[in-house]
Amino acid sequence: MGKLKENHSGKVFLVGAGPGDVGLVTLRAHELIRDCDVLVFDHLANAELRKQAKPECEQIDVGKVPGCHTIVQEEIGKILVRKASVGKNVVRLKGGDPFVFGRCAEEMIVLTKASIPFEIVPGVTAALACAAYSGIPLSHRDYGSSISFLTGHEDIEKEALRVNFKKFAEVGGTLCVYMGMAKLEEIVSKLLKGGLPADKPAAIVSQGTLPNQRKVISTLKHIVNDSKTANLSAPAIIFVGNSIGLSSKSNWFEDRVLFGKRIVVTRPVGQVSKLKNLLEKKGAEVLELPLIKILPQEDRMLIAETFAGIATYEWVVFTSANGAREFFNVFFKAFGDIRSFGPMRIACVGEATAQVIREFNLEVELIPTHSTAEDLAQALVATESLDSANVLVVTGNRNREVLVGLLESVGHAIVDTLPIYQTDFADVVDVPDRIKFIEQGADAIVFASSSAALSYIEQEEDLQFEQGAKLPVHASFGSQTSDTLKENKLSVDIIAEDSTLESMLEAIVNYFQK
Ligand code: SAH
Repeated sequence: MGKLKENHSGKVFLVGAGPGDVGLVTLRAHELIRDCDVLVFDHLANAELRKQAKPECEQIDVGKVPGCHTIVQEEIGKILVRKASVGKNVVRLKGGDPFVFGRCAEEMIVLTKASIPFEIVPGVTAALACAAYSGIPLSHRDYGSSISFLTGHEDIEKEALRVNFKKFAEVGGTLCVYMGMAKLEEIVSKLLKGGLPADKPAAIVSQGTLPNQRKVISTLKHIVNDSKTANLSAPAIIFVGNSIGLSSKSNWFEDRVLFGKRIVVTRPVGQVSKLKNLLEKKGAEVLELPLIKILPQEDRMLIAETFAGIATYEWVVFTSANGAREFFNVFFKAFGDIRSFGPMRIACVGEATAQVIREFNLEVELIPTHSTAEDLAQALVATESLDSANVLVVTGNRNREVLVGLLESVGHAIVDTLPIYQTDFADVVDVPDRIKFIEQGADAIVFASSSAALSYIEQEEDLQFEQGAKLPVHASFGSQTSDTLKENKLSVDIIAEDSTLESMLEAIVNYFQK
């Protein structure tokens, strides 16, 4: 009977989501989030993690429910049992580590009672993460020999559970106080009464490991005032101990060049954003607002005909990275072997497009100095190889007329075009990061194409900033994109030297360093 029950039941995974930075989440947690049927989360778990779940995964917010109070612990237990009982695999994401002030024990007891199998995945707890990301050492061989995790949150009804801070003053070592901000003054006063000296080093780190991390390094005597002046808010960890005094004012995390900057990338729906990774490495917070979607070419006949004659072209010209990517997607579905591509010469409008081609170990022979249709055409004409030559131009559904016109009229080439994909505006309404964007704004928004800029303008009504939101400057990848922005009365504040992501990154860094 017991066996039968286990076969039908799903499993619950009590998973540590770490302190905030997605990079501090275990591989096991990532794997479970990607595979689960139900994801139960609260506000401490980074929203980024939820994006990794399958589209059909049911996501249940037990932290904030519009119009209701926070769901009580008992109800969370019931949800876990209910979902797992009908065979679902459930991930219960908890900030930091599930066993450190995480109420994981209660959930474990409920699951055991209901005979629901479960696993526990540890996470990096806030105290350790805040210390590391602020350069605050928690121990030193010359100072203290213990590290204590305490909670400042007091349950009025359970007197016996209150932390005796006076006693911890005697214990000494390093104290890490969770949930202590509301009682900071009281905690400090009890530690002083317990015998800790007023000049005992103390620190507070709020929003640790997140793009808005803040810290104050002080002493017991001054920490209350210093924290008020700095306007630190929860969640925060309070540290007390001699080793805290060894921390430096600067630190690797907050010193990164784009730390504190919120930047919006507008890459097409479904594409992994390399720019996001590059910006995050420099410390930026990145919001994703896909403004366009790439749709495959519907005209299968045209593709089949073009591929049948692919070996007759002397040049194949790629006018965008998306076009190049989609071309090879379709190509490998048809042929499965790169040797079918043929010995033609390859030209690309810019470096980003060329990078896609080089991934297939194909050599790109021509890239114009400026990534415009005119420059590409002129550079091709200058090779003096176009007269009566068969040229294939691989494009999207926009901006190809100028190029084809010049190749035919000036270069006397015989041009076929293959519109391999179409771009369409992507609806922003349901994009998860939209709410944060309109509520808080951003420092910059990056437009990779004219179509992205047009989509942004078209959807203005759904992207109205709320009062107090920061108005972003506009970063543009190419002259056409800049023209589109200017024609629509939007400023162009940051321009990439060429069309590569690296050059956009450099331009953004330079702009904010000014
Ligand atoms: N299980 C969690 C702790 C939950 S209790 C863990 O292991 O980290 C909630 C408290 O954790 C907050 O009040 C705060 O003291 C601390 N905390 C959680 N995330 C934090 C963060 N990013 N920065 C600073 N403190 C944090």
